[in-house]
Amino acid sequence: MKATLASIRTVYADLAQRPVQRDCIRRTECCQFKLTGKTPQLTRGEALLAAHGFRASGRKELPQPTDGSCPFLQPKTQKCLIYESRPFGCRTHFCQPAGGPMDRKDVLDLIRRLEQIDSELGGDGPHALTQAVSWALEQK
Ligand code: SF4
Repeated sequence: MKATLASIRTVYADLAQRPVQRDCIRRTECCQFKLTGKTPQLTRGEALLAAHGFRASGRKELPQPTDGSCPFLQPKTQKCLIYESRPFGCRTHFCQPAGGPMDRKDVLDLIRRLEQIDSELGGDGPHALTQAVSWALEQK
């Protein structure tokens, strides 16, 4: 498990080194799935890291927001509970104010690495955030 989490963190760190200008200022618009009509899709490794970040916050039960927002978006503070462990999609594909979606060709090698880890974990590709993290929270 530790090696998996380290591999995912390395992918995220490599993404941060890409010469594509992005400036997330945590407006959290992209965390409103119902409003945007988009939900991050997570591979298994990403889901395990997100679940790890969630557990580290001391929480156990994944919230079930009724407003269509991300379960990691804290209602009172409007901050991401797992920001350092947030999925690849939150870093690349959603937010217009942060610079808009990254071109897939600029990050395709990183996506392939996430897919490879997913395959090694017995996954069948990305799943919507809540579904993927629910699976991860069931893992020991
Ligand atoms: S994981 Fe964090 S950054 Fe990503 S959609 Fe949820 S609250 Fe927003």
